Amino acid sequence: MPTYVRTDKCDGCKGQDKTACMYICPHDLMMLDKDGSATGHAMKAYNQEPEQCWECYSCVKICPQNAIEVRHYADIVPLGGSVQPLRGSDSIMWTIKFRNGTLKRFKFPIRTTPEGSIDPYGGKETAKLENITKPGFFTASGGYRPGNPAELIRKQS
Ligand code: SF4
Ligand code: SF4
Repeated sequence: MPTYVRTDKCDGCKGQDKTACMYICPHDLMMLDKDGSATGHAMKAYNQEPEQCWECYSCVKICPQNAIEVRHYADIVPLGGSVQPLRGSDSIMWTIKFRNGTLKRFKFPIRTTPEGSIDPYGGKETAKLENITKPGFFTASGGYRPGNPAELIRKQS
């Protein structure tokens, strides 16, 4: 039940070298078929290894053209049904289509802060690349220290 690209909607992210779906896929599955030699559809993306798809929906959500859909297991989404997200800046609208044609829409918030307002490195030291081979590079300042049993989270008795 991999993703597939609707060639009628995909615009190849307007010819950029790395499309949004290529950028986001954690498994490097999405490819842009620039000259159409792989799929017969030039400048359209495709899932190059569908059996490896995690169905994580990342590419589906990020595609600015809403051009990616997922084929579901029939026991989860019976044939003829579909589950399609449409991402906004602060929420995702899910459109669920049932086999009998009934449509339901659910809107879920996806963030509590304005888009683009997060500073992931705010207040943190800049990494020193000369330390990259030393142990403790990725730990808090001071590097490795032994575990402290008092810091373990335990069930209250
Ligand atoms: S993100 Fe969407 S529009 Fe862009 S290349 Fe992928 S499928 Fe096409
Ligand atoms: S659903 Fe996830 S794993 Fe599958 S192609 Fe999209 S981003 Fe990659």
